[in-house]
Amino acid sequence: HAQRGEGRVDSIFAAATPPGRGGVAVIRLSGPEARAIAGRLTGALPPPRQAQLRAFRDPAGGEVLDRGIVLLFPAPASYTGEDVVELQGHGGPAVVRSLLDALRRAGGRLAQPGEFTERAFLNGRMDLSQAEGVAALIEADSEAARRAAMRSVEGAFGQRVAELGAALADRRARLEAGLDFPDEEEPAEAGQAALADDLDRLREQLGEIRARAGAGWRLSQGQRVALVGPPNAGKSSLLNALTESEAAIVAATPGTTRDVIRETARVAGQALELLDTAGLRPAAEQEEVEREGARRARASAEGADALLLVVEEGAAPGPEAEEMALSRPERPVLLIRNKIDRSGRPPGLGEEPLGGRPVTAAAVSAHTGAGLEAVREWLEASLQAAAGAEEPWAARERHLEALADAEQALGEARRLAGDGEALEDLVADALRRAQQRLGAITGAVSSEDLLDRIFSSFCIGK
Ligand code: GDP
Ligand code: ZN
Repeated sequence: HAQRGEGRVDSIFAAATPPGRGGVAVIRLSGPEARAIAGRLTGALPPPRQAQLRAFRDPAGGEVLDRGIVLLFPAPASYTGEDVVELQGHGGPAVVRSLLDALRRAGGRLAQPGEFTERAFLNGRMDLSQAEGVAALIEADSEAARRAAMRSVEGAFGQRVAELGAALADRRARLEAGLDFPDEEEPAEAGQAALADDLDRLREQLGEIRARAGAGWRLSQGQRVALVGPPNAGKSSLLNALTESEAAIVAATPGTTRDVIRETARVAGQALELLDTAGLRPAAEQEEVEREGARRARASAEGADALLLVVEEGAAPGPEAEEMALSRPERPVLLIRNKIDRSGRPPGLGEEPLGGRPVTAAAVSAHTGAGLEAVREWLEASLQAAAGAEEPWAARERHLEALADAEQALGEARRLAGDGEALEDLVADALRRAQQRLGAITGAVSSEDLLDRIFSSFCIGK
């Protein structure tokens, strides 16, 4: 990336809208030459932040390639902190290709993935956790993931991490200045007790940050709900009924005969994956292909974050289904008793034992829709709880690793402080390590390698 090298900074461009066909395509340019390069296509640029209609011309021959809107965002108050020019043209692949080609010939360079946001970070427009929040926002599929990403974009995650980092630095400075153990007169034990207390408090704050970041990370993985149960229990009907009011897309991907049939849909902002488990009959009654189907269904359900176990109203779930439901005791399970329209039983939630463990049971009818609202509410509440924290922050694996390392270093500092000996140097050293790992989250501490890894995972044009 030219930006981080010595010398001159390239002006970069890319389509900000996704490839394909659409009404409008947005192409962005950023860099010291952005105005000049865009001007070679559009003629004189409009005043800052004013949309004006222009012909977009080939810089060589003058042919009109497209006609559209031009916007100028001068440095430093732009997304990247550099001069940014936006061209809004017609959203066809040939139009976009011709404009990108014209910009290249006018002196620009096609941007790398994430390069705009990387420049925003390098120019101090946002910290690293905010930049990664932008990527998380673009990736967000559910309402919960969007909220978590927005919190990170707005800086809540980075700010808390920075505050904790500053508190660690502060504590270390006092330690290194010997302020805790000033002289012979003040008993060393008092200083040590105060240090231990402070470290406990800092660890508690770190624990809170970890919980919220961990929950955000789990959200970003997209929670999966598996609908499992014997054939003809009404899983497909239920999925359709659940998604109907949400105008969701239900896509059926039938596998080979007797394979797991997967259908996915969105309910309560969550990806719902239906696993039509042909093989949830007792293994002895199964043919070989069926057993393979059952094995795949089990493997797939194994990774789900919640299970909807569907049976006909009066039927027993059976040992296979029970086993699957109880394989991970912390995972939410809802036992759905379907087809109550046949018996006239009223809809609603209750509790039933399943393999010796009480689970929530719902009496519903996929045909009439009775009881489905309760199922939706249960899903929403259980998945939120399963993510593990209130108000999570969008976070990546590298954040969790950094937080875990910081936790370990702080734990070590605390042990040393509790040892009764004044091992100030060692405590200070552990604090410094924790502080550095936190700095990697916000980008206060970063390397070219780290930035490459982070921004190369972004999409082009962001
Ligand atoms: P799956 O094999 O578990 O996906 O079950 P389906 O959704 O394909 O349904 C199996 C059969 O049960 C179909 O004939 C459905 O019309 C019927 N069925 C599903 N839900 C209900 C219900 O709530 N009431 C009644 N009476 N029949 C239902
Ligand atoms: Zn089905």
